[in-house]
Amino acid sequence: MSTAQHLPHTVEALLADGTTVTIRPIGPADRAAVLDLHAERMSDESRRMRFFGASREAPQLAADRLCAAPRPELLALGAWAGGELVGEADCESVQGRPDTAELAVVVADDWHRRGVATLLLEHLVHAARQNGIRALEADTLAGNLAVHRVFTDLGLPVHRHLEQGEVRVRVPLDETDEHYREAVDERGRRADIASLAALLRPASVAVVGASRRPGSVGQSVLLKIRQAGFAGQLWAVNPYAAEVAGEPAHASLGTLPGIPDLAVLAVPPIAVAGAAEECGQAGVRALVVLTSGLDAHTAGQLMHACRRHSMRLVGPNSLGIAQTDPAIRLDAEFGAVWPLPGSAGVAVQSGGVGIALLERLTWLGIGVSSFVSLGDKYDVSGNDLLQWWESDGSTDLALLHLESFGNPRAFSRTARRVTRRFPILTVDAGRSPAGRRGAASHTAAAATPTVAREALFRQAGITATRSLSELVDTAALLHSQPLPSTRCAVAVVSNAGGVGILAADACADAGLTQLELPPDITAELRDLLPDGSATANPVDTTAAVRPVELAACLDTLARSRAVDALLVCLVPTALATGPHDDPVRALLDGPARRRVPVAAVLLGQEVPVRYLTCSDGGRIPSYSDPQAAARALAHARDRAHWLTEPPSPEAAPPPGCDPRSARHLVEAFLAANPDGGWLDPALTVELFDCYGLPLTISIWVPDEHGAVVAAQSLRQLGHRGEVVLKAYWPGQVHKSTLGAVRTGLATDGQVRETFREFTERFGRQLTGVVVQPMAAPGLELLAGVVQDRVFGPLAVLGLGGTATDVLDDRTARLAPLTERDLATMVAELRGSPVLLGHQGAAAVDVAAVQDVLARISHLATDLPQLAELDLNPLIARPDGVLCVDARVRLEPRGSFDPYLRRLRRPAAAEEVREP
Ligand code: ADP
Ligand code: MG
Repeated sequence: MSTAQHLPHTVEALLADGTTVTIRPIGPADRAAVLDLHAERMSDESRRMRFFGASREAPQLAADRLCAAPRPELLALGAWAGGELVGEADCESVQGRPDTAELAVVVADDWHRRGVATLLLEHLVHAARQNGIRALEADTLAGNLAVHRVFTDLGLPVHRHLEQGEVRVRVPLDETDEHYREAVDERGRRADIASLAALLRPASVAVVGASRRPGSVGQSVLLKIRQAGFAGQLWAVNPYAAEVAGEPAHASLGTLPGIPDLAVLAVPPIAVAGAAEECGQAGVRALVVLTSGLDAHTAGQLMHACRRHSMRLVGPNSLGIAQTDPAIRLDAEFGAVWPLPGSAGVAVQSGGVGIALLERLTWLGIGVSSFVSLGDKYDVSGNDLLQWWESDGSTDLALLHLESFGNPRAFSRTARRVTRRFPILTVDAGRSPAGRRGAASHTAAAATPTVAREALFRQAGITATRSLSELVDTAALLHSQPLPSTRCAVAVVSNAGGVGILAADACADAGLTQLELPPDITAELRDLLPDGSATANPVDTTAAVRPVELAACLDTLARSRAVDALLVCLVPTALATGPHDDPVRALLDGPARRRVPVAAVLLGQEVPVRYLTCSDGGRIPSYSDPQAAARALAHARDRAHWLTEPPSPEAAPPPGCDPRSARHLVEAFLAANPDGGWLDPALTVELFDCYGLPLTISIWVPDEHGAVVAAQSLRQLGHRGEVVLKAYWPGQVHKSTLGAVRTGLATDGQVRETFREFTERFGRQLTGVVVQPMAAPGLELLAGVVQDRVFGPLAVLGLGGTATDVLDDRTARLAPLTERDLATMVAELRGSPVLLGHQGAAAVDVAAVQDVLARISHLATDLPQLAELDLNPLIARPDGVLCVDARVRLEPRGSFDPYLRRLRRPAAAEEVREP
């Protein structure tokens, strides 16, 4: 263990049964609690079996060991529930083997089988890794099955040796392998669902702050819960009234005839903290806080009450929640509509958006399985709901409107799994003009929050729409129609030629494949349709078409293997004299679901989207605008495409990566520069070497003589025997625009002359010059990473060199990159044909470009302190790649494991912590 110990933070996390516990380091102040745990909360038998190692040691010795003055070789974590220590796990490094630690775990008897040990071990493993521990070891009694199960279930590789009735267990910690992550995920998911049951499947609900004033939030919610026919117990709490809206009111939580699972708080801001605490003490398991405008102190107290009393929290500033399962029928929100029962899971951050979305869905006829208005999202988040819907047995479509992400990487991991089962649709909110982050680095300028969010959605397979309307349009299609094949060649059929052309244009705009109908189909259509019809795509049936003819035409097209989707555009015409002649009958009388998805466009329709209910009871979405229909089809195509691609593994670290040395370098730099900063050329070279990044040779020289000597030694390596001189001073930006880069220097004289020019131009600012061999010409690319505070590292690839900004051709992915990311990043650039060999030119070494991307992805994931890294240009040629200009900025920052199980700590409530 290194001497500078990284102490884990205090966090809250969920046990297997959904109970919240606090995990934090144990220190001298915890002596009484440790004694109590060992002496009072364990039976003799437990103590005999006592998990590991010091099984015969007395409680006193344990307290002495754990609660002495902190020492770097010991890491001890405790789990607290409601202020009591219920478990402890520690590891102490072994004498002479600083990277191995002896492990011990203890759990209070009445807390067994709830996942305390496993949760503590997960956090201890994380902390141990942070402190350079490579393996944990422990002695256990062979008969101690519970402990062996904990180890087996943990998901890490476990090695066991039997020695005289004791089993020596060794857990290597070298790699975070996917198996372990999945095991952690699965435990997290089950704990999360267990904790959310009180919120989304409550047997009893109390409305606290149920007001007598009609139209007040409290009263509206109370009435809605009652009128929607809540299947469980409903109680109104109001100390000043005997009854509220016909419901008997109770003076306080404590005087209720039972303990509510869920409490809905509609009290004034000043009363929120007190009400939450009262709920917690009464044994409530979940809160929905409708109140808005909490100050930081109240927010902190609210969070504190929730964590201490193990209550999940929706809000504050929530519009409420709804659960339509007939066994529950809870409508605890104060929007204007009653959500229909159905299978769409809906979560929104803004209440206003929630109201609008529920209205549109209800109008359209898409029912909701559960609805949650997350509000200020102190606790329950989109990630929680995705996990709930994943296994609630009734959701097959998720609609999200998220303005912020607490832990995007955990969200992305969940979403990636869930989108394999059903579509997740979101509005990409907050897409305002992508503010450039200054020109300090090209990569940073390219990596705006919008880019990061788009990358997240794309990598997770989330369908990101650009507006609420587009969300509803797309949901209407995905909810009713089959997915197209990935080709998605659309056949357009209309009863008015001009409309068909508009629709074909809309398809082209949406990037859908233009379809040429095969001759046998066109021949068949000619036989079916009235004279004068156009039987090529777009098919124009003319206004004279009768519904039966149109229906036959649709059947023919839907049967053809050339067609992957049907867009049917109809205008009402004077030729239809009765309802039986209405061309829409062709759709209504046919099947709703065919081999391919069908979307209708009815130009006369007054609403943007609605359903046509067919004779078989199924539904076809009908749009007023062909653009909307085409966009929905394009989203369906993208989803189909995403589903055909198997999940891609993270790109393995390429050979020659040395994270340990890189970490030392970074720590040393930050020790000398506590605020961080740009690495100088020499350190940049060193860091690049740690990850095998191809950087050209750079010699830094302080004076003219040095420059000439360096140039002489480098010239033979340079293209055409030439070298490059770059003026250097700390903190410089874009060198070439200032005239600080001079290429193609062939003679000593030119080197001298350039050096003098630099001194003249840059004066005392200049601290020296960098000499490089001239690189052979090639395609100039930009590759880089920016660490986003919320999203983590974002890797960028683009066409580069000095023209990066003009070309504006870049693509981005959140690291760690997968194998597929490496391939698609290159393919996605508009300029990719140039990389792949254009007009007879040889292709560049694409594998080498991808290798650089993989290396910087690992570099950024290994080193959270890497704020920006910029390789520009990375010169790509058929025979390899070479970077001639690299910049690296470091920032002091602790590592954050996005996959470690812990509950959110909202910034608004940060100041009040568990005592
Ligand atoms: P900056 O990006 O700060 O302006 P660079 O070091 O990237 O400065 O140099 C600008 C341009 O000069 C590069 O895009 C490249 O075209 C060219 N260049 C720089 N160094 C070399 C080199 N060693 N060999 C060949 N060309 C170079
Ligand atoms: Mg550059």
